Amino acid sequence: MAIYFTIKEMTKSQTAKVQNIDNTPTEEVVENLKKVMYILDMVRVHMGKPILVNSGYRCRKLNEIIGGVHKSMHIRGLAADFRTGKIEDIDRMFEFLKKTPCITFTTLSLMSNQ
Ligand SMILES: [Zn+2]
Repeated sequence: MAIYFTIKEMTKSQTAKVQNIDNTPTEEVVENLKKVMYILDMVRVHMGKPILVNSGYRCRKLNEIIGGVHKSMHIRGLAADFRTGKIEDIDRMFEFLKKTPCITFTTLSLMSNQ
């Protein structure tokens, strides 16, 4: 079980709410989200301060509306866009993600204003 993150947090979307899209994950997606939440927990512990999830799971319809650079991963619940409260912390977070051997990615991107 993730300590700092919830499935609710990983699936919430303002766009889905506004557009009345049901972004409820399937069981398979929930299992994937748990893996992502485990990684987010490690990052949270390392940083010692809150990490804010902008976007986790997106159902196909929601993802179509939002778009993005790694579409399929969000649809499968295997992606999270997240940020720190302070811009100064980004380098430290990025280095941790790159260097920690038990954290593996197919994509790790640093974006501004996301
Ligand atoms: Zn993304």
